[in-house]
Amino acid sequence: MISPQSFRNRSRTKIVATIGPACDGDARLRELVLSGVDVFRLNMAHAGTVEQQRHVDTIRRISEALDYPIAILVDLAGPKIRLGEIAGGVITCQRDEEFFLVDDEPAGPNELTSTYTPLTKELSAGNLVMLADGTVSMVVEERSPGRVRMRVIQPGTIRSRQGINLPGVPLSVPSISQKDRTDALWAAKAGIDFLGLSFVRSAEDVRILKEIIQSADCETQVIAKIEKREALDALDSIVQAADVVMVARGDLGVEIDVARIAIEQKRIIQVCQRHCKPVIIATQMLDSMQHSKRPTRAEATDVANAILDGADACMLSGETAIGRYPIEAVSMMNRIALATEESLRDQPLRLPSGSSSSLLHEVTRAVVHGASDMAYDLKAELVIVASHSGRTALVLSQHRSTVPTVGVSSSEATLRRMCLYWGVTPLRGAPARDIESLIQHTDAWGCQMDYLKPGNRVVIVGGSHLTAGPDHEEMTSGVHDVVVVHEVEER
Ligand code: PEP
Repeated sequence: MISPQSFRNRSRTKIVATIGPACDGDARLRELVLSGVDVFRLNMAHAGTVEQQRHVDTIRRISEALDYPIAILVDLAGPKIRLGEIAGGVITCQRDEEFFLVDDEPAGPNELTSTYTPLTKELSAGNLVMLADGTVSMVVEERSPGRVRMRVIQPGTIRSRQGINLPGVPLSVPSISQKDRTDALWAAKAGIDFLGLSFVRSAEDVRILKEIIQSADCETQVIAKIEKREALDALDSIVQAADVVMVARGDLGVEIDVARIAIEQKRIIQVCQRHCKPVIIATQMLDSMQHSKRPTRAEATDVANAILDGADACMLSGETAIGRYPIEAVSMMNRIALATEESLRDQPLRLPSGSSSSLLHEVTRAVVHGASDMAYDLKAELVIVASHSGRTALVLSQHRSTVPTVGVSSSEATLRRMCLYWGVTPLRGAPARDIESLIQHTDAWGCQMDYLKPGNRVVIVGGSHLTAGPDHEEMTSGVHDVVVVHEVEER
């Protein structure tokens, strides 16, 4: 079990960590959880289902042993276009040098291939071809059947199988490949909590993935990764269609002018807040910690600013997957988040009150709003929400209450979803049938975790069956229409 001390030291901002060779094995993953990880990310671009299933089994085992919900995010590779093999593996591209993208086997060192054969048909003169994470760029000068001539405008080194970004080029590549479908079905059936959809271009892409999940009769939630210009143009509808959103700054920073990243990040967060959808900020948050025990000042500031903008979660990629200091990176992110959240005690964040109407009954919304204010006014130590689907906990999370929130549910899937809800601690509990048993359970847990002592106040949000008995007719099933203020008694 997680000790009360390490429990209380967890940030309210959720931490997503990518699994890779640097954090393989039970002991490492366990240490990462104890350092603050809430969600593990498995990247399907780098391993197959057999290897990923091994990670899934390990994570579930650790979660069980710690008696603490840990969610899993499977990130689909998506329609990422890559360079083919380069003879010798690497080429240095000089300014103004000519390169050719060809359909057939390369006949010389300046001929490149891609993993997407129709590319030579879909590029036009003037298109930009960005390579090596945007550090090398070429402009298309001429297209002929099976051959595209390009000129280097940003010199640098390229390697076999590196990603190709084509900002603003309309491609006919399907958003969900056959491999993505197979991986998505595996993930849904394996009970994975979140599926990341890479290179989303429209809300329709999100709906197609949801249909695949539903066809398997599963409830895995969809994370729309915003990393293309088209996604920014269709942001509102994509956010509405998705369950969670990720600002995937790695590819986004190549697909659009990197100078606009901060502004777009803030805009995406605001749209997510309006639609009451959790949002993850990803990529290069503590990048230098792949090689150093300390982050740069700019990275520490980046994490803090994401939280102040209203991010629900921050993500680590290379830092935990291949870096030298995965544990230190998670601990550092946790520390930065704690320090930032401490500052919110005096100046709570006021997120725009979202259009959560589609998520919640208007009574529940009003009750959640009131409970949050009551907890603050009454200097309560905890807010408890008994939540079946997790939606009420999500809306409460969007209040960014300075009072810690505990989401109690008997559903493992719901508890794991809460792993991405800012400020919500998931707590297993039998279905709450009456207020006394809920109070007993949460008081016992709160005292054990040193959150509560006799005399402390707790605000509880639930349905009226909690106070009026199971035979009571709720106004609408699942409506949270009761707030109870409780004082912890001497045990
Ligand atoms: C990104 O591009 O920032 C991202 C998170 O996606 P991936 O790591 O799959 O490239």
